[in-house]
Amino acid sequence: MNLNKPLNALLASVLGVGVLLSGAVNAQNYPDKPVTLVVPFAAGGPTDSIARLIAVPMGKSLGQTVVVENAPGAGGTVASNKVAKAKPDGYMIYIHHMGMATAQALYDKLPYDPMKDFEYIGQVADVPMVLLGRKNLPPNNFKELEAYIKTNKEKVTMANAGPGAVSQLCGLIFQSKLGVRVTTVPYKGTGPALTDLLGGQVDILCDQTTQTIPYIKDNRVKVYGVTTPKRLSALPNVPTLDEQGLKGFDVKVWHGVYAPKGTPKPVLDKINAALKKALADPDVKARLDSSNIDIVPVAKQNGPALQAHLDAEINRWGPIIRKANIPD
Ligand code: ASP
Repeated sequence: MNLNKPLNALLASVLGVGVLLSGAVNAQNYPDKPVTLVVPFAAGGPTDSIARLIAVPMGKSLGQTVVVENAPGAGGTVASNKVAKAKPDGYMIYIHHMGMATAQALYDKLPYDPMKDFEYIGQVADVPMVLLGRKNLPPNNFKELEAYIKTNKEKVTMANAGPGAVSQLCGLIFQSKLGVRVTTVPYKGTGPALTDLLGGQVDILCDQTTQTIPYIKDNRVKVYGVTTPKRLSALPNVPTLDEQGLKGFDVKVWHGVYAPKGTPKPVLDKINAALKKALADPDVKARLDSSNIDIVPVAKQNGPALQAHLDAEINRWGPIIRKANIPD
């Protein structure tokens, strides 16, 4: 008989209770210091703007500041990897768009698994995109753009936020449907890419409506189409790419909030409650409405809905991306 067994069992149960207690205490006091919300792109872009918009009310609900940290690189995969490897204590959370799903098909091998290395807190908002050109680019409409690109393809430069970014995905689908390849110029986010488009340093860019509507209305950029199957209420005179011949063009950028795998459930619940409250905030809603951004229904603002959506989107985009033929 092993006489140490009861002692081992006692120790294990005391340690177990200890772990449980410390977990419970952590969750109960959470958060007792600022929470970092990681953004996978540069400051001043669409993902960054949504993050900063929800960070303030989320911080109010949590009773601690939610600090936005930009960790750009490799189309968002640098930040995804950073969060996947972070301590699962609720002090580092993550907002990413549908690049969380598309990166899988755009990279041969990712250093993290989007379906295994995260906890899922909730979906946030859906954002349409627009195809833009610099103000002095010769074509004035989509038909002219198509002809211009076909005769000047080596010359035409298309900005994006790197392989894995939706601007890259949108550009990839655009080029594939047009049957041409242009020169791609990657940035750390579409914030800096839009700055260069406004400055005339690059020719075209697919970007979310988050920042772009005022520039379109002021004629500081040219707009050639919207990426959704329906026209946008904020830009009723801008045709969809689908209606201009790029049949089936349908890109709307969804977003989710994540935490590293193993973050305790009570902590996730607190973050989820803060997220829901932020999305119900009238100022947040008004700001997003003005950019034609739809906050997702409450039924999608939870972990299981985000996880199911991510899974479906990985399956949806894999074949489309492989068919559209590979990243720049
Ligand atoms: N709009 C971006 C993208 O193309 C990223 C960003 O938010 O800057 O994925």
